[in-house]
Amino acid sequence: MRPFLVGQFGNASSIHQEGQLARSAVEQARGRVALLLGCRPSEVVFTSGGTESDNLAVFGSVKSGDYVISSSVEHHAVLHAVERLVDRGVEVTVLPVDGEGVVSAEDVRRALRPNTRLVSVMMANNETGVLQPVEAIGRITREAGVRFHVDAVQAAGKVAIDVEAIGCDLLSISGHKMHGPQGTGALFVRRRTRLEPLFAGGAHERQRRAGTENVAGIVGLGKAAECAMEGLRGGAVERVRELRDRLETGLREFASGVNGGRTARVPNTSNVWFASLDGEALVIGLDLKGLAVSSGAACSSGASEPSHVLRAMGLPIERARASLRFSLHRQTTVEEIDRAIELVATQVVRLRELSAVPQ
Ligand code: PLP
Repeated sequence: MRPFLVGQFGNASSIHQEGQLARSAVEQARGRVALLLGCRPSEVVFTSGGTESDNLAVFGSVKSGDYVISSSVEHHAVLHAVERLVDRGVEVTVLPVDGEGVVSAEDVRRALRPNTRLVSVMMANNETGVLQPVEAIGRITREAGVRFHVDAVQAAGKVAIDVEAIGCDLLSISGHKMHGPQGTGALFVRRRTRLEPLFAGGAHERQRRAGTENVAGIVGLGKAAECAMEGLRGGAVERVRELRDRLETGLREFASGVNGGRTARVPNTSNVWFASLDGEALVIGLDLKGLAVSSGAACSSGASEPSHVLRAMGLPIERARASLRFSLHRQTTVEEIDRAIELVATQVVRLRELSAVPQ
């Protein structure tokens, strides 16, 4: 990324040499993202991140009179977008999930109507890591001739993604969830998929996303996609899974369970609950000791609303409030995991003692 931040400021849409240098870097990155997703480079649209990709997929697909199916555990970038569609004369069904947070593909089939325009179901949940049966849903939407969008922001780099195997028409990814730069993302748009752009402006990105390209960011996203492929092939992801399992085993004595722990998950996420503890108090106590964890999604931490994902799984408010999300990454070490277990154990014991003190 550095050359494009410190000196090479050519506009990728310009025909002069500086511009063409930027263009070739953008196209190299497009090729790398395409390899990660199993699509053609021409099917990759660069965006400012997962939120924009999700919004482009939803708002770009649907018009008044259409019908949309989504799920109750989607990220707010999808959930709030589909909720807004209701004001635009679109009917929406938000499907429930089971106790592990899984959407039923058969529920999707049953919810289909003749005017179904879009089904949007995520690949991996951002709070629990739980994987959805996107391939089964893809078979159903293909059969029905219905457009299928997959929010794969939390899946990219953690599990293999193949848009052909999934059978989706649109798929979102975000740079910062796979060791890339914040504020970068992409939307896979299957060839010949008609999509109304979100922005009015130039003809960038094959008329799907107006605005001068963020060359440095796109280069970073492309490199992250390449590293993600290496991580998936070279066993780095398996190592993260082993560390996540080590964390869960180490916490077993102090924790009350793992939310979504009985179904398939991405390897880097663990959502653990600690009965009768306040998750926010734990987050703050651990932060003071140098351990960054979250209760609920990062964007809603600080708000006291309990997680909509855990609530949709049927968990009581108290359990949702007593849950913490741990996220690992490819550079996480065994020592860090052991230190995390130690810190959590100390905090949990301390908070339980405090809450046991008679008032
Ligand atoms: N979708 C999911 C599943 C996410 O986890 C996130 C971010 O946490 C987003 C979408 C939004 O992505 P971004 O932060 O790049 O806008």
